[in-house]
Amino acid sequence: MPDTADADVLIVGAGPVGLATALLIARHGWRVTVLERHAEPYPQPRAVHFDDEVARLLAGAGLADELGRLTDPADIYEWRNGSAQTLLRFDWSGTGPSGWPMASMFNQPALEDALSEAAAKADGLTVLRGYEAVQLAQTDSQVELIARDGVGEQRRFTAAWLVGCDGANSFVRGHMQTGLTDLGFFFDWLIVDVVPNEPRTWDPVNLQICDPQRPTTVVSGGPGRRRWEFMRMPGETAEELNNEQTAWRLLGPWQLTPDNCVLERHALYTFQARWADQWRQGRLLIAGDSAHLMPPFAGQGMCSGIRDAANLSWKLDLVLRGLSGPELLDSYGAERSAHVQHAIGLSVELGKVICVRDPEQAAGRDGFMTSMDADPARILPPLPPPTLSGGIIHRTAAGDPAEGAGVLTPQARVGYRGRTGLLDQVVGTGFVLAATEDPAAALDDDRRAFLDAIGAQVLHLLPASGAGGRSGAGSPIGKSEGDTGGQAIDVDGAYLEHLAAAGHVAVLIRPDHYLFGAVPSMAELSALVDDLSRQLTGTPQS
Ligand SMILES: Cc1cc2nc3c(=O)[nH]c(=O)nc-3n(C[C@H](O)[C@H](O)[C@H](O)COP(=O)(O)OP(=O)(O)OC[C@H]3O[C@@H](n4cnc5c(N)ncnc54)[C@H](O)[C@@H]3O)c2cc1C
Repeated sequence: MPDTADADVLIVGAGPVGLATALLIARHGWRVTVLERHAEPYPQPRAVHFDDEVARLLAGAGLADELGRLTDPADIYEWRNGSAQTLLRFDWSGTGPSGWPMASMFNQPALEDALSEAAAKADGLTVLRGYEAVQLAQTDSQVELIARDGVGEQRRFTAAWLVGCDGANSFVRGHMQTGLTDLGFFFDWLIVDVVPNEPRTWDPVNLQICDPQRPTTVVSGGPGRRRWEFMRMPGETAEELNNEQTAWRLLGPWQLTPDNCVLERHALYTFQARWADQWRQGRLLIAGDSAHLMPPFAGQGMCSGIRDAANLSWKLDLVLRGLSGPELLDSYGAERSAHVQHAIGLSVELGKVICVRDPEQAAGRDGFMTSMDADPARILPPLPPPTLSGGIIHRTAAGDPAEGAGVLTPQARVGYRGRTGLLDQVVGTGFVLAATEDPAAALDDDRRAFLDAIGAQVLHLLPASGAGGRSGAGSPIGKSEGDTGGQAIDVDGAYLEHLAAAGHVAVLIRPDHYLFGAVPSMAELSALVDDLSRQLTGTPQS
């Protein structure tokens, strides 16, 4: 066996989740090695949509300046029946609470290229393509992995932790004793990606045709591209459906021919709904499609994997630094699995409406939806809020989640150290303690030192109007004297308004943007910080 390469974290799989996880961990200064079995990035069509929360996470992973080039915002997503009657209309226009467009359409290979470029520039991060993980073992202190390159040479890798981001048939998951919960939802769809020769306006930009003769999806595939998805019908074989001739025949009604567009790719996928029961075993963890699969009707598969990356990366950082024990990583699977089951449930519910093949059942469905004025709020089951129901969130003395703890926090623009922009881009990422009064002044040295140790951004939020006269206020932690870095001007008033509406004066936010907890008075801030300290390190600071 040739040389051994050592890393802090090994990641198997350089799909979007593996690359995002690697970038988010390497950002903390850890040595991360990603092994990918394919020598070249995977070119097949898959995800086309992500939401504002995921845009924020991708921006935090280093793509903030790339997202505009990579995406088309989507405004309307309309569902119609076979007679072109509107059944459902989602309005996704504008900016979402996370500070990015509510819905962005993109091309997955282009996004993966951008992630790979960011990875190539990141310190401590190595992506090795053409290495397939073939053997895996773990001891109390490390993980050992054997990977085989394209000519059959084997190489040994060791690391403190290993994350399997190796997709649906995960090799890493196969080495963990975990079952899979499968909802038994299986439908085959032909995916066709097209590049029209001339720009063309598509109205609505995203369309679902709930025609029992052939359920069909027609959406943006990112800048310059369109995506069609056609369901396989009873009696039709996979071979009959998945070929170029059939793709052109199905595109015909859309006036698309070899003369006016390029058929970029066609592929058949079986949509499924399942999740792994365990996401960690010892030093092995899984994320992305290796941990969960869902039908793409809500556009949440990759989004869920990017949320996994955001949740896991800050916890791995704290464990690697010795601030937290490995048991912190158990909260990763617990938090993410509960959240992902909501996304899977929603996707399946949408699928049950879309995949109807019986004309009578379809007519009943159409009657109901039109009678509800195509209003999603009246037609669909209530969407689960993007909230953590347990895990690392502030608790009451009785151990129940404190009010508001676990909700996804919004992002707005701030003015900070002479720059104005979205909070993550001008202040940075990580834990955030933000308050209407100087939070550092309300805490003692030990608590300030704890926040400093976990890399928290400690912000005194100031209204835009009163900012001029307040220069010099605030006591930024870990900053040099005279540095006013702790002050953040709430340029649009969004943060202060939000706090006032909730009756809070200070919030403590996790690096994945979920609220750890909030307090109604500065007198309670120390207890909030203590609870975080207790949950992360096992000891309060008092
Ligand atoms: C038709 C379709 C439409 C979709 N639309 C959306 C959408 O609009 N929005 C959305 O959010 N999601 C969507 N998804 C889901 C999304 O594409 C996936 O969730 C996403 O690609 C998962 O990323 P991943 O990194 O977890 O896994 P993958 O992208 O599968 O990457 C896994 C990587 O691991 C590598 N690998 C596997 N085994 C090994 C090994 N032993 N050694 C080394 N490397 C290995 C593979 O080669 C691969 O590169 C869609 C999926 C499909 C099929």
